[in-house]
Amino acid sequence: MRLGYARVNQETHCLSPLTTTLDDFRRVHFLVGDELAAAASSSGQEVVGLMKNAELSGFVKAAEKRGATTVPLLSAWALPAGPISRQALVELRDGLVAAVRDAGQLDGVFLALHGAMGSHEMDEPEAWITEELRAALPDIPIVTAFDLHGLLTSRLMAACEVPVAYRTNPHRDHPKIGARCAELLADRVEGWTPHVAWRSLPMILGGGSTVDLLNPMRGVFRQLDRMEKRPGVRSVSLFMCHLWNHNPDLGWSTVAVCDTPELAEAIAEEIAEFAWSVRHEQPPEFHTADSAIAEARGARFRRATGCVTMVDASDVVGAGAPGDNTALIRALYERGHGLDTLACVRDAQVATELLDRLGEDVEVEVGARLTHSPGGPLAVRGRVIQGDSNSPFGNRVTLDCGHLKLVVTEQAPLPIKPDFYNSVGLSTWKADVVVVKNFFHYRWYFLAQNRLSLYVKTQGITDFDAVRERVQFTDPVWPFQPVEDWRPADARRRKVET
Ligand SMILES: [Zn+2]
Repeated sequence: MRLGYARVNQETHCLSPLTTTLDDFRRVHFLVGDELAAAASSSGQEVVGLMKNAELSGFVKAAEKRGATTVPLLSAWALPAGPISRQALVELRDGLVAAVRDAGQLDGVFLALHGAMGSHEMDEPEAWITEELRAALPDIPIVTAFDLHGLLTSRLMAACEVPVAYRTNPHRDHPKIGARCAELLADRVEGWTPHVAWRSLPMILGGGSTVDLLNPMRGVFRQLDRMEKRPGVRSVSLFMCHLWNHNPDLGWSTVAVCDTPELAEAIAEEIAEFAWSVRHEQPPEFHTADSAIAEARGARFRRATGCVTMVDASDVVGAGAPGDNTALIRALYERGHGLDTLACVRDAQVATELLDRLGEDVEVEVGARLTHSPGGPLAVRGRVIQGDSNSPFGNRVTLDCGHLKLVVTEQAPLPIKPDFYNSVGLSTWKADVVVVKNFFHYRWYFLAQNRLSLYVKTQGITDFDAVRERVQFTDPVWPFQPVEDWRPADARRRKVET
């Protein structure tokens, strides 16, 4: 049994003014053939800088255990950012189809997608990529893995034979999902017939209420685990969608993969009811910049034994924002005296111009060049204390502006790990306040030193309200409208006669 494996992954923020090109994939992760096989092997680094093991290494390990020969095709991963160009999508498709052509006889393929890829130049890029792969391989099984922030649509469901989503948020089960897909694919090659059913819910929830470790989602995900133990149930998935996607059918969805069509329908329906029942759980209120500063000031003991992290919730680079919003850093710079603060901002021009002015005192305006930011660019005065040109974020300089130390980067800054600041000589232990631009994943890496997390909303493209302004929903969607019954929207979205 020869099983191919491939990945195309990016989470797209439809409000970002930036276009994602093939270079954005190549800069992070783009592998084919032997290089991909080495990365996905047990001793490899699957996605350097992001993850040692993800779906593909999980898939390879489990498939080989089943006696399969695994065949690397193509793997491309870009960081969350703006809509993807048509050119990049065509090149990714061409690369994938060429790899399939060169792979020789295949009995099945595992494809890892994100599910929230978007483009202004092409509708539903992942449905298209799946259709193109199917056209190149008309007669063999394909199993597809998704991030649970993916969006299922009738077109994507028609293109996907067996869809499976992550079960954790923050995501940490990529290898497990890859392994499950290997089992399903191997069974499929050996003659098992999957029956798949799904439901689409006209609801979205803010990020704060979708963590799998906390209620209400803890109960929902446990229910999924229990359902999968029932005889005949092979996989149950809940998709909670990426909020800043402009598809008019944006919302949650459920999928069941079972041994019989009746069971699949019943399970997809049951988990849909369960998910719908938690829709009233809205995320906690976020801080304003000033209330967060006041709270950090009061947290003396916590600051003395570690740091207070402030999540710049209106400029979450981890959700695709460019990272150049200045509202929170302005408040910390102008009104956060006495709090030793580490922060970052994207500004390609400043990061480049100050590179050869190490040690000099400078006055510059930073940020707010790509997206609207309340107050516009921030004028700061400080000394250039660090600079390098080949950081993971491109050109990078660090300014010492008194109580604020500001890292200015050419590309979107992503301080998920303390090393983002530590690597330029700043101590996250000694700081009072550390600004991050990521909703949840940073909490894991900052576990030892983070004494208090404050979520700060200013005004930016990763605000929950931004969804309502941008998406032209076809149906009334909770919580923007009061929706009593999810079934009418589901029937229309799935094109089911009622
Ligand atoms: Zn996700």
